[in-house]
Amino acid sequence: MRFSGLRVLWEGLTGNRGWEPHWRDPAPKSEYDVVIIGGGGHGLSTAYYLAREHGITNVAVLEKGYLGGGNVGRNTTIVRANYGLPGNSEFYSHSLKLWEGLEQELNYNVMMSQRGVLNLFHSDGQRDAFARRGNAMVNQGDDAILLDREGVRRLVPYLDFDNARFPVHGGLFHPRGGTARHDAVAWGYARGADRRGVDLIQNCEVTGIDIENGRVRGVQTTRGAIRAGKVGIVVAGRSSQVAAMAGMRLPIESHVLQAFVTEGLKPVIDHVVTFGMGHFYISQSDKGGLVFGGDIDMYASYAARGNLPAVEHVMEAGMTLMPMIGKARVLRSWGGIMDMSPDGSPIIDRTDVEGLYLNCGWNYGGFKAVPASGHCFAHLMATDRYHEAATGFRLDRFRTGYGIIDEEGTGAQHNLH
Ligand SMILES: Cc1cc2nc3c(=O)[nH]c(=O)nc-3n(C[C@H](O)[C@H](O)[C@H](O)COP(=O)(O)OP(=O)(O)OC[C@H]3O[C@@H](n4cnc5c(N)ncnc54)[C@H](O)[C@@H]3O)c2cc1C
Repeated sequence: MRFSGLRVLWEGLTGNRGWEPHWRDPAPKSEYDVVIIGGGGHGLSTAYYLAREHGITNVAVLEKGYLGGGNVGRNTTIVRANYGLPGNSEFYSHSLKLWEGLEQELNYNVMMSQRGVLNLFHSDGQRDAFARRGNAMVNQGDDAILLDREGVRRLVPYLDFDNARFPVHGGLFHPRGGTARHDAVAWGYARGADRRGVDLIQNCEVTGIDIENGRVRGVQTTRGAIRAGKVGIVVAGRSSQVAAMAGMRLPIESHVLQAFVTEGLKPVIDHVVTFGMGHFYISQSDKGGLVFGGDIDMYASYAARGNLPAVEHVMEAGMTLMPMIGKARVLRSWGGIMDMSPDGSPIIDRTDVEGLYLNCGWNYGGFKAVPASGHCFAHLMATDRYHEAATGFRLDRFRTGYGIIDEEGTGAQHNLH
């Protein structure tokens, strides 16, 4: 079934009776060439690109809940390529280019909206850091514009420019950044993978990883044993637990991150805006809700819900930056489990077990990585070679100390970046 404007019109006129489910609901087979553990954004995009780019279609995605029920359906939908360090820079640049063609590629409306991301700065030191970052972005081939205070005022006049404690000095504007509808991204990749023959198996939790003579042989699941030539672990906040099934101890801590949405309002916030002096960022959804969040809750946890001190911090930072939002009523808040790596950058790598691959360490920024992560991980799983955009995400950098990509310059502290 292809989507098109004509199809929508036709279905609208004929009672919407012609739509079909977006993917099949197959029973697991006893054996696959590739098993992907985790039906989040990264697992689904990996399966899609395995089939699309490498012709590997005897693939199963095993998801313990429902597709897209994890972080891919819980994030604040921000897409950007504004990294400064080699390693990250080329990878997120690659991802943004994939985002820009994603709707055509998937024939699915992921509501990609390049409304621009504005990072505010509030001191001379911060301006220098953002100028350096902006130059790195431009050198990478992406876009960045350094705005002074008046430039920011023209773009976002509703900020509190008279705040004496945290005056707005300017901002780094990234016009090609923006937002995309998170669930639709998962659904689009799922549909695309299914159409190419991938089995998407929901309610199927992996409980063990079978290894013989140093080689992966398959997985144990709540729906029986499944043999596999290759297995990819793509489970975000559960990475340490699933890797432990293969005897691995990962340098990953799981932390909760919360987000919030208000009642629907008329259009007021046209861009994604981030505060430079507290953890707060905001955008407005197409339904009108103000979608915002801040920092992680600062302690390791597997609970997908947060605590009040983090809520208070986010609300205070929001009120400091744009007091007008104090009038909006918060409708919902929720949490997701972040796979925090020591340097804040991801891992896309082989493991010491032959045929077992690892994709994790996405911290609070893995949604924008969904296309490139799947693209590069599928390349690695299919060819056993690193994709040129993802050569730096090696697991052994945490053992050797060589190649650490510490974007925030905070050192090896999981909750500081
Ligand atoms: C509140 C919040 C805001 C965020 N905002 C942004 C943002 O604005 N921009 C951005 O780029 N990123 C953002 N992120 C981060 C981003 O959502 C994550 O980094 C990314 O979604 C993680 O990858 P994923 O989609 O594959 O994870 P998930 O969707 O969590 O997928 C992992 C899947 O693995 C499954 N699984 C776990 N264990 C097993 C098992 N044993 N067997 C089978 N399946 C298993 C889980 O059920 C889950 O569905 C945010 C996250 C949160 C929580």
